[in-house]
Amino acid sequence: ITHVMWFRKDLRLEDNTAFYHALESLQKNDRLICLFHLDQKQYKIGEPSHDYFFSALEEFRKELAKNKIALHLLTGDLVEAFSSLKTQFPVFKHLYFNLDNSGFGQKRDLSITHLLESEHISVHAFEESHLHKAKDILKNDGIPYQKFTPYYKKWAALPKPAYRYLDVSSFSPYTAHLPELTKDGDRELNYLLSNRKKEFSNEVGEIQATDRLNDFVANKLESYHLKRDFPFKDGTSHISSFLSTGQISIRKVWHIVMDGESHQGQEIYLKELAWRDFYQMIYHYHPNQYKEEFNEKYRSLNWKNNPEFFDAWKNGQTGFPIIDAAMRQLNETGWMHNRLRMLVASFLTKDLLIDWRLGERYFAEKLIDYDAASNIGGWQWAASTGTDAVPYFRIFNPTTQSLKFDKEGDFIKIYVPELAKLPSKLIREPHSLSKEQQAELNFYLGQDYPFPIVNHTLARKETLEWFQSQ
Ligand code: FAD
Repeated sequence: ITHVMWFRKDLRLEDNTAFYHALESLQKNDRLICLFHLDQKQYKIGEPSHDYFFSALEEFRKELAKNKIALHLLTGDLVEAFSSLKTQFPVFKHLYFNLDNSGFGQKRDLSITHLLESEHISVHAFEESHLHKAKDILKNDGIPYQKFTPYYKKWAALPKPAYRYLDVSSFSPYTAHLPELTKDGDRELNYLLSNRKKEFSNEVGEIQATDRLNDFVANKLESYHLKRDFPFKDGTSHISSFLSTGQISIRKVWHIVMDGESHQGQEIYLKELAWRDFYQMIYHYHPNQYKEEFNEKYRSLNWKNNPEFFDAWKNGQTGFPIIDAAMRQLNETGWMHNRLRMLVASFLTKDLLIDWRLGERYFAEKLIDYDAASNIGGWQWAASTGTDAVPYFRIFNPTTQSLKFDKEGDFIKIYVPELAKLPSKLIREPHSLSKEQQAELNFYLGQDYPFPIVNHTLARKETLEWFQSQ
């Protein structure tokens, strides 16, 4: 009998539910084909999210190879690829995979399940990417929560699943290596890898994920609650890209964090993991959220969508240093600090009155940790249209936020180097430089750095009226 393990956003050997079930079900004379489908429709060539994912895939393939297990890469149309697999291997009887919660992935999983089940192939699909599944935490009357706090109370009280080790290398005699099957895929992956703008060499892989988290727990977790809001202090775990590509299991993250000492940093960190589950639950029960405001009251907002403003925002050229530094961090690295995600999302929606969906899509292209549920949740929170969102009248002031969270302008200096020669106070608000000061510093607004594209005070006033008139 032939079993097939289909990897997707679960690029790890350890604690991989579907993979373990596939391995454990192998009997004498059975064989297992491990595969990944390269889907051209999902390529975003040139974007950090794309380069990151394929770097992670390459690393995962190497890890499997170390255990003498081949990962076959399929190309072309997915349905055709699976149909041809069935023809080539008439004894293909079982398919294993971990379910994808997002819209596209869910549809893809359903269509393949229907196809294979109609061919009498058993499909074994596992929901395993969150600590608690959407339906595990509901109100006492069975209705899903909309507010985080009561959800979190229940979440915190529930026991968490264990994680498992398995010596995968002992199964290598059962795993197939079929060079013909992966020939086109190998060529394609090589092409994708050689066209990367960034290689992410030290930022991928299961070992890297575990080392990073262990280091964070040993050195930073204790002060997480104190430093997590300051982009320059770099007090967060940077585990999100490993989680979104499945290079580490969420169960392992939980256990590593719980193994450390118990303190406020640990408590706040675990709460962030609960937000991840919460947004996944909301997305599960409101799958239209990516195109529709969660809050019905705000479904017909008349966004202004000025294309020049949108370009300035994307390119980090708004004239608001903290916003520009954040957007340039995203464009250069594919990651952005949480406080800054909140700020740039607020700025786009509240200062520029640009539809949150445009911002959400832009993040989806760039983020190496893109996760549909958390991203949509974060955007709808900032736009005040989401569940348990910030009220519309709470509008971040980029300059005072910058004073609060990047007092000396240290973070701004990294990503907006043209401002580095200004004294700290002026780094936050270069538009307040007088003509004489500009001449003295040999720094000219409009030439070396843009004038602010809007006046925050006026924009705020307009937005409040705009929301009230809806
Ligand atoms: P840490 O502070 O170390 O947190 C640990 C983990 O907790 C994170 O890796 C993440 O899995 C989870 N977490 C933390 N904060 C949140 C949160 N607010 N919501 C959900 N989970 C959270 N996170 C993503 O993983 N993918 C996204 O696409 C994404 N888009 C966002 C968009 C906006 C507008 C906002 C405001 C937030 C978004 N977040 C997203 C949440 C958060 O910004 C990132 O999870 C965090 O910055 C990742 O860095 P870290 O791993 O160092 O986080």
